[in-house]
Amino acid sequence: MTDKKKYVYQFGAGKADGDRTMRELLGGKGANLAEMSRTGLPVPPGMTITTETCDQYYKNNQKWPEGLKEQIREGIRFQEEQLGAGFGDPENPLLLSVRSGAAASMPGMMDTVLNLGMNDMVAEGLAERTGNEWFAFDSYRRFIDMFSDVVMGIPHESFESAMQKLKDQRGVKEDNELTAKDLRDLVDRFKAIYRRETGFMFPNDPMEQLEFSINAVFGSWNSERAKKYRKINKITGLIGTAVNIQAMVFGNMGETSGSGVLFTRDPNTGENKLYGEYLTNAQGEDVVAGTRTPEPIKNLKKALPKVYDQLEEMTRKLEKAYQNMQDIEFTIQEEKLFILQTRNGKRTGPAAIKIAVDFVKEGIVNKQEAVKNLVTTAQLDQLLHPQFDDKAIKDKKVIGVGLPASPGAAVGKVYFTSHDAEDAKITGENVILARVETSPDDVGGMHASEGIITSRGGMTSHAAVVARGWGKPCVVGCDDIVINYKNKSLTDGNHTVYEGDWLSINGTTGEVVLGQLPLKPPKLSNDFKKFMKWVDEFRDMKVRTNADRAEDATKAKEFGAEGIGLCRTEHMFFEGERIVEVRRMIMSDNEKERRESLARLLPYQKEDFLGLFKALDGDPVTIRLLDPPLHEFLPHTEDEKKDLAKQFGISYRKVKDRVAALDEANPMLGHRGCRLGITFPEITEMQTRAILEAAIEAKEQGAVVLPEIMVPLIGSGDELIDQKNVIKETAEKVFKDKGTRIDYLIGTMIEVPRAALVADEIAPHADFFSFGTNDLTQMTFGFSRDDIGKFLPDYLERKIVLHDPFQTLDQKGVGKLVAEAADLGRATKPGLKLGICGEHGGDPESIAFCYKQGLDYVSCSPFRVPIARLAAAQEAIAQQENK
Ligand code: ADP
Ligand code: MG
Ligand code: MG
Repeated sequence: MTDKKKYVYQFGAGKADGDRTMRELLGGKGANLAEMSRTGLPVPPGMTITTETCDQYYKNNQKWPEGLKEQIREGIRFQEEQLGAGFGDPENPLLLSVRSGAAASMPGMMDTVLNLGMNDMVAEGLAERTGNEWFAFDSYRRFIDMFSDVVMGIPHESFESAMQKLKDQRGVKEDNELTAKDLRDLVDRFKAIYRRETGFMFPNDPMEQLEFSINAVFGSWNSERAKKYRKINKITGLIGTAVNIQAMVFGNMGETSGSGVLFTRDPNTGENKLYGEYLTNAQGEDVVAGTRTPEPIKNLKKALPKVYDQLEEMTRKLEKAYQNMQDIEFTIQEEKLFILQTRNGKRTGPAAIKIAVDFVKEGIVNKQEAVKNLVTTAQLDQLLHPQFDDKAIKDKKVIGVGLPASPGAAVGKVYFTSHDAEDAKITGENVILARVETSPDDVGGMHASEGIITSRGGMTSHAAVVARGWGKPCVVGCDDIVINYKNKSLTDGNHTVYEGDWLSINGTTGEVVLGQLPLKPPKLSNDFKKFMKWVDEFRDMKVRTNADRAEDATKAKEFGAEGIGLCRTEHMFFEGERIVEVRRMIMSDNEKERRESLARLLPYQKEDFLGLFKALDGDPVTIRLLDPPLHEFLPHTEDEKKDLAKQFGISYRKVKDRVAALDEANPMLGHRGCRLGITFPEITEMQTRAILEAAIEAKEQGAVVLPEIMVPLIGSGDELIDQKNVIKETAEKVFKDKGTRIDYLIGTMIEVPRAALVADEIAPHADFFSFGTNDLTQMTFGFSRDDIGKFLPDYLERKIVLHDPFQTLDQKGVGKLVAEAADLGRATKPGLKLGICGEHGGDPESIAFCYKQGLDYVSCSPFRVPIARLAAAQEAIAQQENK
């Protein structure tokens, strides 16, 4: 068989087979290594085995496809030529790194083996050639450790403790204080551990070492922790990981060598300065491993000024090339700088905004690129989250101050294992996770927490990086406190906090505080306002808000809402004395009594609407007529029913009978929505009167009013005609009474599937449609929103649904109804106004769908308004670019 499939892509010497656009095939790391090599950045030569190969490996019973081995050999020959070295050649050995890298970034989730190609002869040869015996055997012991861990699953701790033992025996503290002779000894001890754990000798043959390692990287793709990470981060549709095999460069060759990690800007604040850490005479993951304390990157400026300048210049090049802030891994070998990885850096919400605004200012991107690529809706969400209310805090007991790794305030009950944290979250608690340090195994518990605290680790530790990515407040390296896993407690020496006790953490200052501190809403920066102004330049779909109160509406307007898409009038029925009148109305025996109760309710409703019209001045206000079934307003317990009977001077029996008569087998499908108004037109009359009288009054007080009256739960044209007649007749009466007229619209919710199907019959009588996608989803799936929790986990687990359909609109089914109704509606009535007012109006993916359907607006809760604005703009830009 002549299978000429390309499994391996090479890079190096200013060239590459691949480039940055090939993430899917080469993984993020491989694509970026290729790109950097192309642009002439100093990248050691290497090759990338494609993600397709990984996929084939799994499909093929974990065997390599034909031709792969030969292509790998070719790749090695290329590296040998480049460096004038030989793989396994003791005279001048080529050593390799084997690294995983999928199309989506999964930091620390999969495995890396460094210094591959080592054996006794090679180590001796390397010592001789470099005249640096210490370096050769340091590299050797690292290799045995990593290979054993990654390939054979022998815990890294076994080697850590062997090393600690040797250090104790030699009476030294730091790894670097061990002599070359000690390291030779250590290599033997490591081999003994390998033999003991596996029953085999440590493999000498470099090619065999390489094959094992490649398979281990393929294997790590399906490790439990990698699968969990993908699940939490909703990474789906990837076929596997790529494998990068690259010539080693050495940061452990002495004082002019080292390795480090950095962000091109501060990932917390966005400030334009290098942000990172490095270690001299160190290799690979030493910086993040926490065994030695790394130095801040600015110290490199003094230690190796030329290298530092070069690093700065390179970061500028990379930012320009990628049009994004970069997260870089580098190694310095005897004052020579190499870049081993670059990727778009994770950052907090505030940092994202500042970087976007600065990038435009610096001419790296234009406004459109900034809006589309530099701030995500999730990052925007972070900015809208609470902070500590310093004024309301009287005294606070700070029990420790650590590094402020990820800003924001978090309050919760403290738990000490990832598992306990996840369990507590399920029972509805707010959780703070406290760990000595976190590892990729902790991501489940971290995700379940409001905030995270560790007693060890730096600003680029696992906890810090992951928390920042999710925008969760996080304090790391808080060594003022001691965490005791056994006791499930933490203490600063004076106070001890046990599992389940309240703790507050401030990720902006690094403070860890006893108890529950009060929170307040966030303050929005000028950069935020500037950025959101750009957002609106690219957006043509309107964003409204769902609000029932003037104060919420005012807040939403500050966030950029352009009207109310849904005011639920029933909320107004519950407040204060109103509920009494509502109940009196429900208990009435005849229309006359009902009308009397309604007349007493009218002033309250009117007052609420007046507030809304004045707050919205100039923007439309959509008010929905009463929607829930009447029994929701009646008491349920016996005592409450007795009280009610006493209050109204009627018999308990009468109350009981009325409650029983209104009881429904299936309230969701019962006597509610327009069905109420059809049975009791006097309710529709009262509400219409309240709306229009309030509008007239607001207008007289100088506001510009645009009332829109919305009839809920319509399923046929005739239902709407019935209610429309009541509304119009009432309106005429109001106008006559007041001696003035105003414009108003009458529209309907589309939330019953039948309404969507006969939208052409409804549209002639409606000025607008508003898709009530909560009910539409309930009735299309036949899933009760309140009971879905009982089976949704199984559905998600078995991929029967890919997400909660009440959070993200089901485009295939529910979306089809929306599209159908929009088409039918507009075909019968050109210019029919279309909007959405379900929860989906605040969900970015669903907003993109609404944009594609040509909806005029989405409506969502006040705090999601900025998110909806950004989502609408990003979709508009994407559509524009597609054209
Ligand atoms: P991760 O995906 O966990 O970031 P990497 O594949 O980037 O893992 O490898 C981890 C570290 O190993 C790198 O940051 C770098 O320090 C070191 N490393 C990887 N490849 C090489 C190489 N060719 N030469 C020297 N060090 C390397
Ligand atoms: Mg790794
Ligand atoms: Mg890396």
